[in-house]
Amino acid sequence: MTGGTRTTSGPALAIRVPGDKSVSQRALILAAIADGESCIQGLLRSADPLATGRALQALGVEIDALEGAATAPVRVRGTGLRSWRTPATPLDLANSGTGARLLAGALAAQPLSAILTGDASLVRRPMERIVAPLRRMGASVAYLDQHGRLPFRIRGGDLRAISHASPVASAQVKSAVLLAGVGAGTGAEVVEPRRSRDHTERMLSAMGVEVEEAGRDDGAWVVRVAPPPARLAPLETTVPGDFSSAAFFLAWAALTGARGLVVRAVGLSRTRTGLLDVLSRMGATVRVSAETSLGGEPAGDVRVEGQGGLRAVEVGGAEVPEMIDELPILAALAARAEGVTRITGAAELRVKESDRISALVDNLRRVGVEAEELPDGLEIEGTRRKLAGRVRCFGDHRIAMAFGVLGATQGCDIEVDDPAVADVSFPGFWRLLDQVGRTDGRPSPPECVVVAIDGTAGAGKSTTAKAVADQLGFRHLDSGAIYRAVALGLLDSGREMSALEKIAKAELDALQVHVEWRGRSMEVWAAGARIPNRKLRTERVSSLASRVSSVPTVRDHLLALQRSAAQGPGLIAEGRDMGTVVFPDAGVKVFLVADARERARRRLLQNGQAAPSSDRIEAEAARLRERDARDSSREAAPLAAASDAVRVDTTNLLPEDQVDEIVKLVERRRNRS
Ligand code: C5P
Repeated sequence: MTGGTRTTSGPALAIRVPGDKSVSQRALILAAIADGESCIQGLLRSADPLATGRALQALGVEIDALEGAATAPVRVRGTGLRSWRTPATPLDLANSGTGARLLAGALAAQPLSAILTGDASLVRRPMERIVAPLRRMGASVAYLDQHGRLPFRIRGGDLRAISHASPVASAQVKSAVLLAGVGAGTGAEVVEPRRSRDHTERMLSAMGVEVEEAGRDDGAWVVRVAPPPARLAPLETTVPGDFSSAAFFLAWAALTGARGLVVRAVGLSRTRTGLLDVLSRMGATVRVSAETSLGGEPAGDVRVEGQGGLRAVEVGGAEVPEMIDELPILAALAARAEGVTRITGAAELRVKESDRISALVDNLRRVGVEAEELPDGLEIEGTRRKLAGRVRCFGDHRIAMAFGVLGATQGCDIEVDDPAVADVSFPGFWRLLDQVGRTDGRPSPPECVVVAIDGTAGAGKSTTAKAVADQLGFRHLDSGAIYRAVALGLLDSGREMSALEKIAKAELDALQVHVEWRGRSMEVWAAGARIPNRKLRTERVSSLASRVSSVPTVRDHLLALQRSAAQGPGLIAEGRDMGTVVFPDAGVKVFLVADARERARRRLLQNGQAAPSSDRIEAEAARLRERDARDSSREAAPLAAASDAVRVDTTNLLPEDQVDEIVKLVERRRNRS
């Protein structure tokens, strides 16, 4: 992937996109064969996953809050591998190819009979590619209308393990076979010509299934799942933002030459992010920051800046499966890129929600762009001409959104015939596009000014942060106190502290650490009770907090909690990674440092020692240096100044001078925006 720079520069418009469609679908289906209650945060509530969820309910799986608010966690009560009920009516997967194919795989292992069907677009899509291997495994499938198409009746039961050589690199085919093998308890192997998306494999591993994967010299990719354990562990997962949804806005930023747009907390699986490389080859700047993992998937913030003037590209071969869903938006980018863009090796596009090759060429010509069909792709000649016309979506959400984005840029008057179809994967797409479009590439006025104050232990962060917050009337986030609360919770629970790096998310959930705001000040709560400050400040807690905070699972767990503090007119966020990870777009970033002995002296004074001896100071300084060393050397969010942070050495500064300096920085920043 391009970029990799950990920090961003200058203010950018920041947005979030709904949860990943592929991950949402898989989470529902896998949770439905797990043993126990799974909790899925951030599930995409769009037509496709809802259709899959309803089909699972018809199979007897209890799902809470499936159609709840976007932020409500969904709970799925799985009852084990082969426990589904015969459904009373056909299962209608609406527009969802993933839902139909994955569910067929899972149903192949269930000793029951069910009919699968879908909407007019889904019943045109090829099913033989999954039906053939499922039949080889022992499932019986009868097409009810047309050969190779939905609807069909599937009768599952005892299966045998197979090795399936898939002629196409398709995550849906692979997942269907793997799910059948897991459900039946036999395991299975799939060889695909090139590696396709691996969401299913990641989730199966998280549930305790052994997954082996390897590339072969000829470029083929082999995935093998072992016979699973008798019970699959339920999922505790947060679905990252959908890269394929983010792609539309990243492309918009590249097209408009905007100062920058950031999409936060988006899934960054390497099997999905091919577009980022292509965007940089076209001349846009791409940066990835705040890298973390969500729902077992790599995730992070992606920022794109158009540098004015995109160049045409050649796209083909191995990168096609990594951006198969992004080819429609690439066609829109190509319409404005200088030169001829050639996309090859993408015959798969002909059997997507529409024949995307002919739909794209037809629509590009309708708005005035020269384009040609190739058997396995298309050629597009970029132009600066005004583009105008009405495009036809053919029931395909990505065609609608791709031309929607192009239409939202200067010099275009494009109408989309069926905008509502975007709801299949991206509810709220048009509203967000409208909002972003109205900013015309300029960042919207910051709703909450975030001031990040990071630095070494005892450099005066907390006193300074508190005083700055008081002066400005901002909230004060003491992130250290949150890490301390986790440490205290673990101490109180009597947990063995030797293998902290193996800590499970469920253990952290059980501590129920959260913050409550009393006006501008923060209270830390755990297990339903407020934790008094003195309990958080003991030496035992300090030293454990420093160890606990180096564990990536802990940092990920606390990320959303910290970010949610940015409300009201402003936030002073104090910690070690405020400017680098938690708030990489903070309006003001300060990094406080001071000589270790001076920091030790202040700490001892603060703890009530009137005139600390030189030995005591040295001992305390050694402790501080040790914590700094651990904080700076850890892999997860190491203590480091953001490249755009203002460094302030407080060794010889009075507390009020430090406060003044930061308040001035904030005022200057406010005057600029
Ligand atoms: O700031 P305070 O000393 O209360 O933080 C306790 C510990 O939590 C620190 O030693 C540091 O290791 C960790 N911490 C962190 N990231 C933050 C805040 C604190 O790693 N943002």
